[in-house]
Amino acid sequence: MANKIDGRYHYSGVVHIHTTESDGTKPIEEVIQIGCRSGLDFMMFSDHMSLKHYEAGHEGIYGDTLVVIGYEHNDLDDNNHFLIFNSPSVYPYKSTAAEYVKAVCRDGAFGIVAHPIEHRSREGKYPPYPWLEWGVDEFNGLEIWNQMSEWMEKLTPWNKLAMAFSPRKSMVGPTAEVLQIWDQLSLKRQYVGVTGVDAHAFPVKVGPLTVVIFPYKVHFKALRTHIVLDEPLSSDFDTARRQLFKALAACRVFCSNLRWGDANEFVFRAIQGSKTAVSGDTLSEHEGVRLEINLPSRATIKLIGNGQELVRTTTESLEYSVGQPGLYRVEVWKGRRGWIFSNHIRIGQFGDDV
Ligand SMILES: [Zn+2]
Ligand SMILES: [Zn+2]
Repeated sequence: MANKIDGRYHYSGVVHIHTTESDGTKPIEEVIQIGCRSGLDFMMFSDHMSLKHYEAGHEGIYGDTLVVIGYEHNDLDDNNHFLIFNSPSVYPYKSTAAEYVKAVCRDGAFGIVAHPIEHRSREGKYPPYPWLEWGVDEFNGLEIWNQMSEWMEKLTPWNKLAMAFSPRKSMVGPTAEVLQIWDQLSLKRQYVGVTGVDAHAFPVKVGPLTVVIFPYKVHFKALRTHIVLDEPLSSDFDTARRQLFKALAACRVFCSNLRWGDANEFVFRAIQGSKTAVSGDTLSEHEGVRLEINLPSRATIKLIGNGQELVRTTTESLEYSVGQPGLYRVEVWKGRRGWIFSNHIRIGQFGDDV
């Protein structure tokens, strides 16, 4: 359900879901039902190399949940995983990453780099599948935080039990490495930062037990992607779908781990006279701009300007006078656990604009 805040509408959903069509463990009908019961406003499916569910007409509005279907492309070495939406067909499997990124851009589809950085051992059962093709930059955005990727990366034989039984609590947050790449890329133009749940619901052996670490319903109560709209989501599917992708393209987005509280009422805005900008928006001048941050509950706010930490304080709300043009974003932490991560507000002339 939407939260109306300052005349804007906040919705939360999940990006990057697998089903039995690839290596997920439940059929799409069942996963959609779980999503509806979990209160998701939108679900973005992305099975590996298949648009079968799209072709079968599973996109639509189910109750209050908007369902869109793309797919996850990978290269022949199983690297460079790319979530592709709004493409009517699967690109050729032999394409290089540069080719499918450029094709998505050319065709006006929507592409998100999945789990860009992975550092797991190549020898293990789950080798890393990193993004390597940084020579192209025509994608729309990247997963700044991927649930399965972080979970598997943190796993050791010693913490396996704790991580298996508290998978949402064990999430820490986007890594400094990914955030730096995102901040750097965003100096040139907008790149949306989303969370990917990468839901498969794999069974994993923990000692004598076999445990489904992230059943779909646990995934759907963890990493959320929030969108901010000027109008409520339409009950007409085509209109609602356009609204979703327009918000994503415009970086009208923030990310959260629901484990630490419902973040839908989070506010990050820049105010200049009568103008108000939120994540994804631009103010052309930096003089007289004030940032306002309001949290649903007390936590540690880190205000980041051009990749540098400007303020760190534990509070429920913060005001900050902008002294310099640049890219501003907010991180919110509950102790050592990441809770909310905004997209950037662009203020004044900087980077390639100057
Ligand atoms: Zn992947
Ligand atoms: Zn995936």
